[in-house]
Amino acid sequence: RTNAPRLPSYLKTSIPTGDSFKQIKKDLRGLGLSTVCEEARCPNIGECWGGGGKEKATATIMLMGDTCTRACRFCSIKTSRTPGALDPHEPENTAEAIRRWGLGYIVLTSVDRDDLPDGGSKHIAETIAKIKSKAPGTLVEALVPDFQGKFDEVDRVARSGLDVYAHNVETVERTTPRVRDRRAGYRQTLSVLKRAKEAQPGLITKTSIMLGCDETDEEVLQTLKDLRNEADVDVVTLGQYMRSSKRLMPVSEYVPPEKFEYWKQKAEELGFLYVASGPLVRSSYRAGEFFIENVLK
Ligand code: SF4
Ligand code: SF4
Repeated sequence: RTNAPRLPSYLKTSIPTGDSFKQIKKDLRGLGLSTVCEEARCPNIGECWGGGGKEKATATIMLMGDTCTRACRFCSIKTSRTPGALDPHEPENTAEAIRRWGLGYIVLTSVDRDDLPDGGSKHIAETIAKIKSKAPGTLVEALVPDFQGKFDEVDRVARSGLDVYAHNVETVERTTPRVRDRRAGYRQTLSVLKRAKEAQPGLITKTSIMLGCDETDEEVLQTLKDLRNEADVDVVTLGQYMRSSKRLMPVSEYVPPEKFEYWKQKAEELGFLYVASGPLVRSSYRAGEFFIENVLK
């Protein structure tokens, strides 16, 4: 496309530094864990791993393999109708690695497993329960699938002992069918976020929106209102959609940093407990620092 927007300089990423970052990288060797932070070469790794010391550091770990049953238009993960079987030792091994690692905040994320009868909810819940028993000091956020809107699976994860239940709405209602896999739905996402909160009162719920998917300002505002007023979501993050390969959908616009600042203010006015908003913000961006500074105090 000749009219595609150019990449602004503030999105060109830098090399992570810092003592805490180096220490965590050293700790990781031998734990047998692969982090999304490293695999995806996330530009925030210096801040997430290095900001505020190890007890507030955040890392994201992917469960249930590297192949997804869905094919969202913004996501570079491999797709298959029949991904490999789950590793039955993964919950135990992940929990043991996290215990040895001693990190303050772990985000568990996963592919969608529509091929499994429970969507993988038992596997996720078991991993959380094992982490909480082996490493009770580590806070756990799980960024989970919609489980096709099945409340039994939502309830199982919501009641597994986790601290933050996250599920991403990704985009506004109108653009959802073009951005997300056809099995995902805007209303379905609102309903599972609402349900997680009802299943486990006091649970913090969280979602993320990408900008640059052809949405309008009115639609972004409406989405924030729906998340607050219909689903009682506590935390929202807003970041720039970046196309990581040519086969993914194009970026409609690079939203300037001031606009992200504007959305942060708007979201705070609507009553979200915490808002992270910026071009490079990803759903797990500095989540540990936020949680420890705002929720635990
Ligand atoms: Fe890792 Fe998420 Fe932070 Fe990126 S934003 S470094 S993936 S925890
Ligand atoms: Fe990627 Fe998640 Fe969509 Fe699967 S469901 S394609 S992992 S965004």
